[in-house]
Amino acid sequence: MIELLWLLPVPLIAAWWITRRRRRPPERRQRDYPPELLQGLRYLFDDEIDSAVGVFSELLERYPGSAEIYFLLGREFRRLGQIERAISAHQNLIARPDLDAVERERGLLELARDFQGIGWLDRAERLYRELEDSERFGETALKHLLELHESGKDWNRAIATGRQLERRTGESAGPRIAHYYCELAEAARARGETGEALGLAGRALGTDRGSVRASLLRGRLFMAEGRSSAALKAFRRVERQDAAFMPEIVEPVIACHRQLGQPEGAIRELDHWAEDYPLPSVVAARARLLAERGDADTALVVLEEHLGGRPSADLARTLVEIAPEHCIGPPLRERLAGMLGELAGRDNRYVCRQCGFETHQLYWRCPGCRSWSSIKPGG
Ligand SMILES: [Zn+2]
Repeated sequence: MIELLWLLPVPLIAAWWITRRRRRPPERRQRDYPPELLQGLRYLFDDEIDSAVGVFSELLERYPGSAEIYFLLGREFRRLGQIERAISAHQNLIARPDLDAVERERGLLELARDFQGIGWLDRAERLYRELEDSERFGETALKHLLELHESGKDWNRAIATGRQLERRTGESAGPRIAHYYCELAEAARARGETGEALGLAGRALGTDRGSVRASLLRGRLFMAEGRSSAALKAFRRVERQDAAFMPEIVEPVIACHRQLGQPEGAIRELDHWAEDYPLPSVVAARARLLAERGDADTALVVLEEHLGGRPSADLARTLVEIAPEHCIGPPLRERLAGMLGELAGRDNRYVCRQCGFETHQLYWRCPGCRSWSSIKPGG
């Protein structure tokens, strides 16, 4: 163990020793200050590693109860990516007979984190489980365990551990657990088990009434089953849950009305939304529907009005697409629509409200900061 000491940065060694001294009664401080410490630091500064190791080995033998140096060593090794050395440091610590119960638990927690870091997940899980009832470290152990289940996509166990964490902390983990149910539902959907997927998406909604992901998933599953009215109901729930996601439901809602043979219903619905949420995607979709039923003049007026207020490639492209032929001829129309379509694609982005990560794909967990539900449409 002690031969690993030379890898620890010098300031860390000094900080440890000073902290250690300050915890002792004042009358003992003078007596405890070992002159060998300075000699050891001098060796380290001079890169005389063997001599430094010799001095620090002696110091650690003379001053038992120095668990902190092991924690510092372990943390530093882990930071440097030298996980096996971190494991060695923590195992040496736990093996010490003079260790008190709290330090032992802390050592087990650090060792579990090492195991998790190196991918020995079974061993990590066993240690986290050993600590789950610990007064001091139980909550932290459960949080790490939850991350471990998430990284292994073990959603059933993540649900169980999430519930356990809720009981332990008294705080709701509903939104996070709802994502786990949605993950299971999406897996069932990929297997073609639509009924199973619907049941799981329903449980997600039961766990978190505000789950936009569950509503979108239920809507798509109902549509796949040809249940357009149920799908409409599911999509409409998004408006109440989080209006920032309105662009996600525009096209699905229009598709539901088409499935029901009621295109006028889509126009009425978008009329209402355009008043409350004058988003480019809502206005553009409404204009296309108006043009589709032969009311291109009204559609153009609507687009011009909104383009004046808020420039948008999506709105401009829609205007180009539905403008009469004597205004824009077919070759120019095609070129402009292509250019504006590309610009609209750049506009339609998702942004993480936690870390600012930008993407053109909706992720329910941010790839940047790993937060759940933090990515939303637009900026
Ligand atoms: Zn983020």
